[in-house]
Amino acid sequence: MTVRVIAIDGPAASGKSSTAGQVAERLGWAHLDSGALYRALTLAALDNLGEGGRRKGEEWPAQQVVDLAGRLPVRLVLAGNSFRPEVAGADVEQAIRGERVTRFVSVVAAMPEVRTWVNTQQRRAVGGMEVGGGVVVDGRDIGTIVFPEAPLKVFLTATPHERARRRLFQRGQAVDVELVRRESQALEARDAADSNRRVAPLKPAQDAVLLDTTALTLEEQVTRVVELARARFPG
Ligand code: C5P
Repeated sequence: MTVRVIAIDGPAASGKSSTAGQVAERLGWAHLDSGALYRALTLAALDNLGEGGRRKGEEWPAQQVVDLAGRLPVRLVLAGNSFRPEVAGADVEQAIRGERVTRFVSVVAAMPEVRTWVNTQQRRAVGGMEVGGGVVVDGRDIGTIVFPEAPLKVFLTATPHERARRRLFQRGQAVDVELVRRESQALEARDAADSNRRVAPLKPAQDAVLLDTTALTLEEQVTRVVELARARFPG
């Protein structure tokens, strides 16, 4: 028997990780945030390969990033019900959320060799789980590339304005018009990079359930996904 997988994809700040985490909790399943692995790799590259000499848009050699990831190592470790990102044995869940990592992560995530490495780590992590419950995996290409056979795929969307508002609120920042405009531009730029890349672009799988969360609370969107899960995985 293989591990049951729910794939949740969507653009930046669409609430994927919060939703995936809470859905996993309600089902008693594990949660894997694939973006955390791309972020941990980016942090490792910034700390070890240097950013000083890099011109805007210049990339690190992909193989160097992958070698570094294997050497440090960068990995996902199951702690309780969630996979946590580690670099050289240290938990980096907080460190990967900063502006510095966010600015460079789409460049690292566009490297085909990096994506192959990340996909292998994710499949290995899920394959090594004790079968019992299942796992909710969130990202950009989970339903299309990483786990295309997942019986339930959800694609979350929300307007850029609403996503920007939520992100600022989450950070405890004032939600004023100018800040929302700037944050919304930054999110759209990252979405464009993720959607237009050659390998594994952000898009819904053909059989994904599309869920526009613009007018939903987090609790409502979690409940919708749990209902879908109970219908798809009875018993
Ligand atoms: O989900 P989060 O915003 O933390 O993801 C950070 C970045 O990692 C994304 O902007 C994207 O470039 C990359 N990513 C990806 N594929 C995934 C998950 C994340 O390319 N499955």
